[in-house]
Amino acid sequence: MRHDHVAIIGGGFSGTLLAVNLLRHDGPRATLIERRPHTARGVAYAAAHPDHLLNVRADNMSALPDDPGHFARWLETTHGGRIKGFAPRLVYGDYLDALLAETIARAPGRLRVVQAEAIDVDPQATDMRVTLANGEMIAADTVVLAPGNLPPHTPAGIDPASLADGCYAADPWSADIAAGLTPDDVVLVLGTGLTMVDIALLLDAQGFSGRIVALSRRGLLPHAHADGVPKTQRAERPEPTAIGLLQALRTRAGEIDWRAAVDELRPYTQSIWGAMALPERHRFLRHLRAWWDVHRHRLAPSVRQRIETMREAGRLQVGAAKLIDAERDGAHIRVRYRPRHGDAIETLRVRRIVNGTGPQGDLTATQEPLLRALVTRGLLRADPLRIGIDVTQDSQTIGADGVASDRLLAVGPMTRGAFWEIVAVPDIRRQAWSVARRLSNAQWVGGEGL
Ligand SMILES: Cc1cc2nc3c(=O)[nH]c(=O)nc-3n(C[C@H](O)[C@H](O)[C@H](O)COP(=O)(O)OP(=O)(O)OC[C@H]3O[C@@H](n4cnc5c(N)ncnc54)[C@H](O)[C@@H]3O)c2cc1C
Repeated sequence: MRHDHVAIIGGGFSGTLLAVNLLRHDGPRATLIERRPHTARGVAYAAAHPDHLLNVRADNMSALPDDPGHFARWLETTHGGRIKGFAPRLVYGDYLDALLAETIARAPGRLRVVQAEAIDVDPQATDMRVTLANGEMIAADTVVLAPGNLPPHTPAGIDPASLADGCYAADPWSADIAAGLTPDDVVLVLGTGLTMVDIALLLDAQGFSGRIVALSRRGLLPHAHADGVPKTQRAERPEPTAIGLLQALRTRAGEIDWRAAVDELRPYTQSIWGAMALPERHRFLRHLRAWWDVHRHRLAPSVRQRIETMREAGRLQVGAAKLIDAERDGAHIRVRYRPRHGDAIETLRVRRIVNGTGPQGDLTATQEPLLRALVTRGLLRADPLRIGIDVTQDSQTIGADGVASDRLLAVGPMTRGAFWEIVAVPDIRRQAWSVARRLSNAQWVGGEGL
């Protein structure tokens, strides 16, 4: 297969890293298509507030798997040791910007950045034709989708159109999340995970001094990293079943710090997932996912401390409950919910609801024009768990006919059905690197197993 020109749709972390690695491997020229005004930062590193910190330490946030100290060195050079440990996400966005600019400058003419929305891909005998919303068409040998997560669904029980203006915030990172709120107001956040933490910090930073109530089915808050936890290594992969994983974790957490027990699974996670039978994957998602998420994706200690301070002051309440419905009450909303482990229905009068339920991956429910077009063409299908785009272990998309394509690939969180652990930088950087090497025919040069 010829890969002289690769079109990458989506210029967030995943797409940018793929483009950077294509150039680093002296691979095909690339066109990076991004619909937002800003390339490289994506959702995570663009709309952040200075209080939003990375949840991975700087020394593990290099964008380049073959140069683990790259980010830490950049940080030292640009900020002279003033930022230690968990850097602000905005600073990480600056790093990605700088990396892209430097790569383009080093290989003039090999990478074109196009600001436009891609709405379709039409496979022809000789090339792939990407249609942009502005009417332009880009022909490439290979197309790589890097669209990021799908936005959260509107939670069941909420009809935003029935509520007064400003009562429902679908975008948790929107700049004016605290606009119009008074200290007497109550804000309901749906979700209690990392997105809720972002929302609470944002409301606090924007001067909201009223009460925040955060609800999710289990009411679990992300744990924090701890200093001085020694790095350990597991001797073998746990049994690839939901119960096998749970037992292995419990046993090790009885022997070493639970954080180390979770972290030492990292080299095995993708292979455990790959070896899990489909019913086991279902079981994991249904029973363990929420627990996995709060132990695996941890907060910087200072962030968790701020959340605790807000809780102790009564400004943030976190609970386990199921939302039943939300009804307009003048400029407010009357919310009904059922607390977990109870039958009683409780009512809460709030000024605003913020959707903090986190990203989605169900391709069959997406409103994204490009993804809908590709599903309609039979070029993409949902993975069996409906958590993303169905791909092979080589990130080739699998069409409705079950056949893998070497001309249409996908990278990033939407490939979680195949890899599960493909959300954070350390995993995506490796995927982008490997795909770039294969497209550059560089895989035989060495460096496998990063
Ligand atoms: C709030 C947040 C904080 C995070 N913090 C951390 C952290 O601290 N540490 C860590 O390791 N990981 C973190 N992550 C996870 C990880 O870094 C991100 O998931 C990762 O950045 C994903 O990048 P992406 O490029 O796949 O997706 P995105 O960043 O969402 O980028 C996708 C891009 O594609 C564009 N796009 C989509 N469709 C089209 C189209 N049809 N045409 C043109 N453009 C299109 C979008 O505009 C977007 O810019 C965080 C994630 C989030 C959401």
